[in-house]
Amino acid sequence: MTSSLKNITVCKKQATLSKLIPVKGITKSHLPESYQDNKDIFNFLMALADLTVKITTSFTSPNRPETYPDTDVVYPFQDMWGSGKERVATGWVDQIKRYSEKENLDCRCPKCRSSETPSKVWGDVTIVTNTHNVFDRFEAEKSTCWLFYNDEAGPVTALKGRSMSYADMESGRSALVCSTCDMELLEKLSHALLLCEELKRKIEPAVSGIPIRPEESIIISHPHGCPKHFWFGKWKPKTENGKAWYATPICSGNDGAPLVILGEILKPSYWPYSGPSCK
Ligand SMILES: [Zn+2]
Ligand SMILES: [Zn+2]
Repeated sequence: MTSSLKNITVCKKQATLSKLIPVKGITKSHLPESYQDNKDIFNFLMALADLTVKITTSFTSPNRPETYPDTDVVYPFQDMWGSGKERVATGWVDQIKRYSEKENLDCRCPKCRSSETPSKVWGDVTIVTNTHNVFDRFEAEKSTCWLFYNDEAGPVTALKGRSMSYADMESGRSALVCSTCDMELLEKLSHALLLCEELKRKIEPAVSGIPIRPEESIIISHPHGCPKHFWFGKWKPKTENGKAWYATPICSGNDGAPLVILGEILKPSYWPYSGPSCK
């Protein structure tokens, strides 16, 4: 499987990017050795990959702070404040809320909002990423989430951002909401979400008896906006700031990607990845 990452010119971390594996080429043999025999772990990662999305945002809000709270560390994309230049990131589908005719609410997808007969059967898809990728509702409204972008050939489904669900500076996690009345899409995503939750429970160390190896970590991302890739690496907790530390970090071109730490699977959800500069 050849990678589409060779042509990224904005990133100086080519040696690291070359270790990412295209999602279409993933097999059980890519998993850390002690997990290769466990089909639930593999299926869990593939279900999570189905929920992983590329996010493009064509606005950078001037409401962003200059620095991270209580630090001198410059907040990302400050040089783009107020600009309509496009940024790319990764995120994942975290929640789906469906509405039926019973609720009698109009669909809020772009098509229905300009229609005289909006659909009454629709849903909201909540997508999680880093706060520094989608900061506020102005950025959410200028965001598009690209689903199932697994290789250059597609097909890809686009969902337009409608509003902000939350943005938490403390955890660095934010979520935007996209509305759609594509019921086939909602069904497909609901299925992947359910499967992910079910397999997550099945592979909990207490249930599965699999030994806990908290140093193993997996990231599923759209590196610099390219098709979906996996990264397998080593992780250990950093003492400073309590932030994740990687023995082999990738780069900020993967920010917002779901980061899975095996052995920590009991956590209620995955963390959005935040990597070092690409310089
Ligand atoms: Zn609609
Ligand atoms: Zn990079």
